Amino acid sequence: MACVSFPYDAPVSQTLFDRASLVTPGGVNSPVRAFRAVGGTPRFMVSGTGPYLTDADNREYVDLVCSWGPMILGHSHPEVIAAVQEAVARGTSFGTPGEGEVALAEEIVARVEPVEQVRLVSSGTEATMSAIRLARGFTGRAKIVKFAGCYHGHVDALLAAAGSGVATFGLPDTPGVTGAQAGDTIVVPYNDLEAVRAVFAAQPGEIACVITEASPGNMGVVPPLDGFNAGLKEICAAGGALYISDEVMTGFRTSKAGWFGIDGVRPDLMTFGKVMGGGFPAAAFGGRADVMAHLAPAGPVYQAGTLSGNPVATAAGLAQLRLLDDAAYAKVDAVSAEIRGLVSEALTKEGVAHTVQAASNMFSVFFTDRPVRNYDDAKQQEAFRFTPFFHSMLAQGVYLPPSAFESWFVSTAHDTRAVERIAAALPAAARAASEATA
Ligand code: PLP
Repeated sequence: MACVSFPYDAPVSQTLFDRASLVTPGGVNSPVRAFRAVGGTPRFMVSGTGPYLTDADNREYVDLVCSWGPMILGHSHPEVIAAVQEAVARGTSFGTPGEGEVALAEEIVARVEPVEQVRLVSSGTEATMSAIRLARGFTGRAKIVKFAGCYHGHVDALLAAAGSGVATFGLPDTPGVTGAQAGDTIVVPYNDLEAVRAVFAAQPGEIACVITEASPGNMGVVPPLDGFNAGLKEICAAGGALYISDEVMTGFRTSKAGWFGIDGVRPDLMTFGKVMGGGFPAAAFGGRADVMAHLAPAGPVYQAGTLSGNPVATAAGLAQLRLLDDAAYAKVDAVSAEIRGLVSEALTKEGVAHTVQAASNMFSVFFTDRPVRNYDDAKQQEAFRFTPFFHSMLAQGVYLPPSAFESWFVSTAHDTRAVERIAAALPAAARAASEATA
């Protein structure tokens, strides 16, 4: 990483981080929050309103992370807050069925046509873990195929060789995942149908499912090439495997029906999270009714959760989804396009090689002038330019994801004032990126 200096100007956050580091590994409850990729003090946020976050040092930022996707209506949307307050006033958890979870399931089924039945869980990780278990239980097969650079949560079997550029068989990426847990995971390069065909040809009748991000956002934004998802579906159908589309990030964000609403390829199973929880821990997996019928208590594949379908989380999610009509998506898409244009303009002015890639309103900036089609391409970028770019934006009150390999997120609340603040910060950040050295 380039050695950069940046203003050390977050004393209260620093004090909190010091306290946190004593009682929590690395001081955070999810690694990317720790700013390890960019250095410096992670900002401890105390409140959020519309497109803005305020940190513990009382500095306001235009938020381009949106809690990693969920806050598509901005922070503290009055109707979402009211729904939460109403739900909280009735009690916070009953451990019984409740109408809120039925209504949320109905909303998901109504929006996403391939989802005939859905099971609510509390995190995207649980959703993908459960979908894979179900696929294995349904097909009676063990092996799964995933793509390098696609992230599906910290499921043991899905942390296998996420960085591999070639078909790799079951090498765990992290200590604690055993060879046995990862040994049935086959990792192939993204956007490479031939590699998937080769894997199916090599192990006929053994593959339970292919899981893919509907449009990846976890190696930066790398949309599927034309025909890629359709090709996956075809290969799965021919090979007797299930096609699982992970829409935890894209679901209800990239359109009313998520990425399915854009490419129309029908998965057998889908996973959701983020936007559908309205800022609370709610996630889901669903799909074909004949597959979902294998799930307990209807069928033999076990899956459960004490807080699944929590009444406060479902109230928040439902309130958020009901506000997400065509006009809302048009607004988010438009502001995303505007910000992408501004970023590109600023970097071009400073002669910084870059490619801005978008999947509807999700986007990221790669410091390379070549298109990025897979994880290997993403790693070829001049990521050292991101660090000074990030810190310059931060110092000027714009909060970006603290890594060059993440999607940026916007909301319906990103108005002219917020965009003007981003525009004002960009020239200095672009200059900092241009002056960076590896
Ligand atoms: N799947 C995708 C595509 C994700 O982007 C994420 C999280 O970023 C997950 C699954 C895991 O979700 P969670 O962090 O809620 O466990």
